[in-house]
Amino acid sequence: SNSNVAFIGLGQMGARMVENLIKNGQKPRVYDIIPAAASTIQGATPCSSPEEAVDGADIIITMLPNGQIVKDTVSRILKAVPKNAILCDSSTTGPQVARELSKVAKDSNIRFLDTPVSGGVVGAQAGTLCFMVGGSQKDCQEAEPVLLKMGKKVLYCGESGAGQITKLCNNLILGVTMIGTCEAMNLGVKLGLDPKLLTDVVNVSTGRSWSSDTYNPVPGVMENVPASKNYEGGFSVELIAKDLGLASDAALSINAPIPLAAMSHQLFRTLMTYHLGKKDFGVVYKFLEGQALK
Ligand code: NAD
Repeated sequence: SNSNVAFIGLGQMGARMVENLIKNGQKPRVYDIIPAAASTIQGATPCSSPEEAVDGADIIITMLPNGQIVKDTVSRILKAVPKNAILCDSSTTGPQVARELSKVAKDSNIRFLDTPVSGGVVGAQAGTLCFMVGGSQKDCQEAEPVLLKMGKKVLYCGESGAGQITKLCNNLILGVTMIGTCEAMNLGVKLGLDPKLLTDVVNVSTGRSWSSDTYNPVPGVMENVPASKNYEGGFSVELIAKDLGLASDAALSINAPIPLAAMSHQLFRTLMTYHLGKKDFGVVYKFLEGQALK
């Protein structure tokens, strides 16, 4: 497609997503609050403000830390965004923020989609992200060719906020399952099992999950996962805690009980008080093991 793309937020995820846009023939205008994040991307047009980045854009993608920053950014660029452009927020912000932004955008004749992603940093790098989209289905179809330059799937989930709800439900399962896997692995190891053997059995049995077979939290069981790199460079405890907090807010709004998610949220928050917030969320294993942490 010949869309003019702007991209705001060039962190762990955003920088890699932009690189895939470039590989696939786009020349995006990019902005990050840290100037070096924009100027070091070969093949992009670095901009010194978000307003400058959105100049002439048909599609604007934001990949920012949280909902407040996305809201501040959107209110700042609102006047500069060309009418009828599509604003895709791929940050994980929750359905409330998505619905608010959808309304704010509409009042300025801008189209808004919530387009959070799964696949993590690895998926962002490989261009295999899965986009979960909320908003108008027609707008989703229009944004799809650009999103597919950064991902392998664009899944339309429903009206505004539905992409965010889908993302939170997925991450609820992810957070709870990771903790369950860590608990079981620690129990088995403490009872004398070899963690590789236990993993092999679980992975052909009913306890299998992404946390056991793709992202095993026990150091040395798998290569090239954060657990085997001192829990560096993965999906941080802070981010899963944020997502479980958003899931709690959403659950409270309709009185849905989420007992295991609530407990998981609190466990990840506890890890943050032990200065493990920046570590990969598989570090729960180390925490339960009770060895010295650093
Ligand atoms: P990150 O902190 O690495 O990147 C955020 C970037 O935004 C940083 O480069 C920062 O400088 C920039 N930024 C902050 N404030 C800004 C502002 N006002 N204007 C412009 N730029 C600003 O975070 P990330 O890991 O890339 O995650 C981004 C979003 O994607 C989060 O909402 C996260 O929950 C979600 N997400 C992350 C992962 C993951 O595995 N890391 C996976 C799926 C979704």
